[in-house]
Amino acid sequence: MNTETIEKAAIEASSNTLDVTSPLDGSTLAQIEIASAKTIEETVEKSAIAFKSWAVAPIRERVQILFSFKAKVEENIEALAAIISKENGKTQNEARDEIKRGLEIVEFATAIPHLGLETTLEVSRGVRCKTELAPLGVTVGITPFNFPAMVPMWMFPISLACGNTFILKPSEQTPLAALKMAELFQEAGLPDGVFSVVNGDRHTAQALIENETVKAVGFVGSTPVARSIYSLAGQHGKRALALGGAKNHITLMPDADPEIAASNIVASAMGCAGQRCMAASVLLMVGDCKDTLNEVVDLSKMIKLGSDLGAVISPVAKQRITGYIDKAEAEGASILADGRDIDSTLSENGNWVGPTIIDGVSKDSACSREEIFGPVLSVIHVDSLDEALAIENASPFGNAASIYTTNGATAEIYSSQANAGMVGINIGVPVPRDPFPFGGWNTSRFGVGDMTGAEGVRFWSQTKKITSKWTSKAAHSWMS
Ligand code: NAD
Repeated sequence: MNTETIEKAAIEASSNTLDVTSPLDGSTLAQIEIASAKTIEETVEKSAIAFKSWAVAPIRERVQILFSFKAKVEENIEALAAIISKENGKTQNEARDEIKRGLEIVEFATAIPHLGLETTLEVSRGVRCKTELAPLGVTVGITPFNFPAMVPMWMFPISLACGNTFILKPSEQTPLAALKMAELFQEAGLPDGVFSVVNGDRHTAQALIENETVKAVGFVGSTPVARSIYSLAGQHGKRALALGGAKNHITLMPDADPEIAASNIVASAMGCAGQRCMAASVLLMVGDCKDTLNEVVDLSKMIKLGSDLGAVISPVAKQRITGYIDKAEAEGASILADGRDIDSTLSENGNWVGPTIIDGVSKDSACSREEIFGPVLSVIHVDSLDEALAIENASPFGNAASIYTTNGATAEIYSSQANAGMVGINIGVPVPRDPFPFGGWNTSRFGVGDMTGAEGVRFWSQTKKITSKWTSKAAHSWMS
């Protein structure tokens, strides 16, 4: 047996449950079953059986269940948000917002029948070609901890509407929202086996990808895992789209509106405790933007941990984030707002890190280049837009890039030259809302296309091309 197999066997033998702990206070929220190899097999089999009837149900019937699911989620939004807040550490408001954003994809999926994506054309006299979107079969989604409801909702509504069945493997750190959504699907009348949740860690994810019956894999998470999942899926002949990590830059021009820019920059960098793949992580200040920086620092210091901002996911994450701050300080950067100073009224068992602004960071430091994934904004001073673009474009990531300016020409130059999949102009979190597709570039995405919008429909379906000829016998020949 190789090391991987021994490790796998040891895990299977030693423990089949996992404690879910709250980042807010370290309390144990639940113990969840880690799916055994047998459970994974059985779930996939059940999913394959369910596919037979789900795939042939008219799309209008399928989306009716998505309408009911949306209504169920809305009825239960506070309960679902409370689950997310407890297991992820974000605030109830942030949790509610993520559910609402996720529901926008459900809305999009219910509109797929109206998109007119299937076409027909008389390609030659009496000969018609038409395209039909066909489902793939059993599909899988592997998702991260930071949006326990929204990220799965980037995938399953579209996959289900397209006629696939779907198995969700949520993050082992935040599995409870997924289980609640499965319950709501059941109440919405989704047939058994069409949507399933399988809990576990990387071994569970790998077993799902390697299972012969699984046809497609959607992944969202860190870049090293996205890369390995994309490669594993390829080895097993599976279609895959894997979104990875990020290091997002905001360029601040001296002509930007200081109030708008400052409040947006703080919201982007600090919201969800910086644990967003779209969060601003580096602020590139072009020329003299002192007033805006002062405002950014003041606003960051006003954020109250606990009520305005949640905890980070784990003690390990907290250590990683504060480690980056320590390192930048040791390298001579100035800590203008220090998230290591924590309010003593917060639970000492929670994973708290406050808003942090690090000024005068070198473009080569770890803080400038690596994904910190915490409420930390590193400030780099540059002399020109070209210099800002050069730093931004040297990043191996390419998720989001934003500029704050009141000059249209500057905005045009920036948006045409920024090497990122999602660009913001006076928008700190440039998530393209539906029907526009979500997806980054470079090492922020492995695979072709985007996760949502019409590109999501392409990913979760395959095109059948049908050529037909219904002419009289006299006019019929073998040629088209
Ligand atoms: P992660 O990569 O550690 O885990 C994501 C999922 O992959 C989890 O379900 C986990 O169990 C599974 N997994 C972990 N290692 C695996 C392996 N070797 N093989 C197979 N599966 C494996 O990510 P995370 O810490 O949960 O989430 C944070 C990361 O997700 C950040 O890097 C963030 O930028 C990224 N993210 C990206 C986007 C995007 O749209 N690009 C969106 C949200 C989060």
